[in-house]
Amino acid sequence: MIARSPMTAIGLIMLLAAIGAAVLAPVVAPIDHTASGVYVPPGADHWLGTDDGGQDVFSLFLHGARISLVIGCFATLISVVAGGTIGLLSGYFGGRVENTLMRVTDIFLVIPDLPLIIALVAVIGPSVFNIIFAIGLVGWTGSARLIRAQTLAVKNRKFVTRARALGASHSRIILRHILPQVAPLLCANTILVLSLAILNESTLSFLGLGDAATISWGQALHIAFTRGAMSAGAWWALLVPGFGIAWVVLGCALLGHGLEDIFSPRARFHHLTPGPAPTPTAGPLPKDANTVLTVRNLEIDYILPDGPLARAVDGVSFELQRGEILGIVGESGCGKSTLLLSLLRLLPARAQIAGGSIHLGPRELLALSETEMADVRGKALSIVFQGAMNALNPVHTVGAQIAEAIGRNHPGMTRPALETRVGEILQKVGVPTDRRTQYPHQFSGGMRQRAMIAMALACNPTILCADEPTTALDGINQAQVLDLLDDLRETLGLSIILVTHDLGVVARTCDRVLVLYGGTIAETGTVDNIFHNPMHPYTRELIRATPDLTQPDRLLATIPGTPPRLDNLPLGCRFAPRCAQAITQCHTERPNLRGQVAAHQASCHLLEILPS
Ligand code: SF4
Repeated sequence: MIARSPMTAIGLIMLLAAIGAAVLAPVVAPIDHTASGVYVPPGADHWLGTDDGGQDVFSLFLHGARISLVIGCFATLISVVAGGTIGLLSGYFGGRVENTLMRVTDIFLVIPDLPLIIALVAVIGPSVFNIIFAIGLVGWTGSARLIRAQTLAVKNRKFVTRARALGASHSRIILRHILPQVAPLLCANTILVLSLAILNESTLSFLGLGDAATISWGQALHIAFTRGAMSAGAWWALLVPGFGIAWVVLGCALLGHGLEDIFSPRARFHHLTPGPAPTPTAGPLPKDANTVLTVRNLEIDYILPDGPLARAVDGVSFELQRGEILGIVGESGCGKSTLLLSLLRLLPARAQIAGGSIHLGPRELLALSETEMADVRGKALSIVFQGAMNALNPVHTVGAQIAEAIGRNHPGMTRPALETRVGEILQKVGVPTDRRTQYPHQFSGGMRQRAMIAMALACNPTILCADEPTTALDGINQAQVLDLLDDLRETLGLSIILVTHDLGVVARTCDRVLVLYGGTIAETGTVDNIFHNPMHPYTRELIRATPDLTQPDRLLATIPGTPPRLDNLPLGCRFAPRCAQAITQCHTERPNLRGQVAAHQASCHLLEILPS
């Protein structure tokens, strides 16, 4: 992992070099107490010159590394043990324990580190032990907050609940189940704390508050500065220890932040980011003027945290007609949302379009620059995300957020025109216009989803992409939002792509359906085809697993197993491990889409050997 992160590798090499210098100092550079000339410039006898006492600066530099690193490491140990323990206890126990520990942390946080360390050392005296104690005592707050946040995230995970259900003690749960989860981030944090400890020690020593009996890099700087190195022009006496401090601090920063990226991949990967323009590799221009979107042989790869590429969407092709609602269904992890986001080129940072083409009308979206693509988003293609409460900004009124969406694409629009347009759009989605001044928390779930749709409609898009728009809604609100989408299709001629895992929603709303499994199309057809004549075993299982209110006595089926992992896709048909009808060929050969009519096709080997 480190080898794939140049920043981390460089940081590690820098830190190891400093440690190597410190360890080998007595061997390669014993301090020569026989004084040579004072402030002798760098040369053959003294590579880095001599100091005010005539001692070899190179030797002092290597020995200084020992003192600086020893103080830094022990102070870091105190900080990380104290901060880690406080973070674990407050995150795990919560309530009064958390309140008390976090208030203490807050108090330490508001006091600047350095003045506190200086005051402590001034009181207890500047010995190496006291300096380690003072720096360690002050540097734990960052670790405490980080580990508390991580513990909060981990403590409700199922494996912790299961351990609790089995009667495990608090200490066992913390040490065996939570600590291993937070340890990688604690490791990364330790390196960053080390750099701060070394900086603090150097500053303290430079100010004359170091242990005079030892020569750390900070102490060497202090001596050179106070004993006339500047006026004697002996730049080497100042530059060399300064270089040592900068080297270790930079190495720690590179290594620490690199490790943070590795151990916290969400930080790197979890944002939706506009991607660079990929090269289209397939797809003739659509001939039908009624076709608003043509996707051909689309391939999307994910870069997994430990390196290899995994194909999340593989060879998907479909078309969308004007005024049509296309449903994309499948279980979680089948590639539905990835496919939808790729249409707007808004994939997560770890995903990339590896091949295929996406034509919006005659325009190839994969050939557009990022600036051109930004112009397409919102105007031609817009999206409604799931979870309206998270997608709306809680500190702005709903009207202001819709106005912002309009204003971004019509920068010259006057205030009254903007207000009128906001009112029109709110009316269109069934929200009373006088509610424009309200905030998202004052809206019900259904109203919030309508507000999200209003924002998506702000610039009259041709295509509306809706990612699970009704998932968090109750039955009544769900029906109202689906009716609204149907109305918008009728009145505005809007084409809609509706991603859902709910076949009931598809049956009620869509014209055509794309059933995705393992990133490939399992079956595609009209709603009638899919529900009355499903050809693919997966489609049949999905339908059997859908509740039917007209048959209350029917036992609800489940599909055994789970969708395939992206890093372990089956060789043949991706549904084979879960398919009750699988034959030998299914485990070795990928089935192609086939069907008697182009409008209804499925990818299953059985279609070759069984009469349809
Ligand atoms: Fe099942 Fe084989 Fe058809 Fe795949 S190809 S769905 S494994 S029968």
